[in-house]
Amino acid sequence: MKIAILGNGQLAQMMIESARDLNVSIDTYPLPEIDRYGKSTPEEINRWQDKLQHYDVVTYEIENISVDLLQTVSQKTRVFPAIEALSVAQDRLLEKDNFKRLDINTNDYMAVDSFAELQKAAKLLSLPFIIKTRRFGYDGKGQYVIKTPECLEKAWEALGGHSLIAESFVPFDYEVSQIASRDQFGHIAFYPLVRNEHRDGILRETHVLMEKNELSIDAQEAVRRLLEHFDYVGTFAVEFFVKNNQLFANEMAPRVHNSGHWSINGANVSQFENHMRAISGENVVVIKTLAQHILMINLIAEDVPDIQLPVNSHAKSYGKSLRAGRKMGHINIVDNELETFINSVNMIYQNIKAKPCLEEF
Ligand code: AMP
Repeated sequence: MKIAILGNGQLAQMMIESARDLNVSIDTYPLPEIDRYGKSTPEEINRWQDKLQHYDVVTYEIENISVDLLQTVSQKTRVFPAIEALSVAQDRLLEKDNFKRLDINTNDYMAVDSFAELQKAAKLLSLPFIIKTRRFGYDGKGQYVIKTPECLEKAWEALGGHSLIAESFVPFDYEVSQIASRDQFGHIAFYPLVRNEHRDGILRETHVLMEKNELSIDAQEAVRRLLEHFDYVGTFAVEFFVKNNQLFANEMAPRVHNSGHWSINGANVSQFENHMRAISGENVVVIKTLAQHILMINLIAEDVPDIQLPVNSHAKSYGKSLRAGRKMGHINIVDNELETFINSVNMIYQNIKAKPCLEEF
């Protein structure tokens, strides 16, 4: 089976590495060009259709791809995950509408296309609230917290001209994500719920939550509804805020997700392998965690430290050139013993620039 991956960053790299035992050949391509509205030119679309029609399956590692292009490509070859899921994920307003339609709890929101609507949002949602670009914001880019009425004009100066969404601010206790993979037979493999710590809108740490409780059951149910709604094939993630033990869906990602990188060393089957299995027509494998304590630390703007890591720690460098804010690699710490786990976490933090996010394990 021939598979093409659109995008050739670290996620594509890890998809390829995970598929070693599958009977597939994989090529990666840079992302097709898009304009600020997410469109590709007709020439670009035709060029990609010609190129991709020789593959059995086309998949993608990242969301900045023209939906029109994938729809054209899908006339001649199969595209997974579902293009509809991608098109909803590309627009925060459609995403929230879709959560609501499927009865998945989310915070209040409204579309904003004029300064008058921004003022109305301030009244309806009350201060503070968040204003975000509907499309193509990522890692906290293209969004502002509006704390005082004076901020309204500034926010409009910065973001006016884009289609926007205003959202109520959730003073969350913490953030979690639920990842799952669904195959072409409709089986779903759920990864455990994970707790995520962001700084400046960028994921810093993911801590695997071992406990099965109401929160994890609710998260799985929300993800199941979305997967079934889209007739989704592949790996999928939903990020939630948790406030008073209640989930508020924030956003969904129709792809492998940074908060699932722990699964490379901490699970019997990684999110990447299950994605590749699903899109190539295999069953997804039921997930078992390999230890009691699992943490992933993202390496932002710094590479894997040049030190001997403890045996319970596994580092991955993405081999990219250094740039501020760039994800350069990650380290997974996987251990059954709390003491040796904590010792390794401390030792790693002593050797990297980042400071620990989670205080308790
Ligand atoms: P997003 O790009 O929507 O994932 O936002 C990036 C990060 O900003 C989230 O992970 C949160 O930490 C924070 N954030 C976004 N929206 C909200 C909100 N409505 N209330 C509180 N924090 C938010």
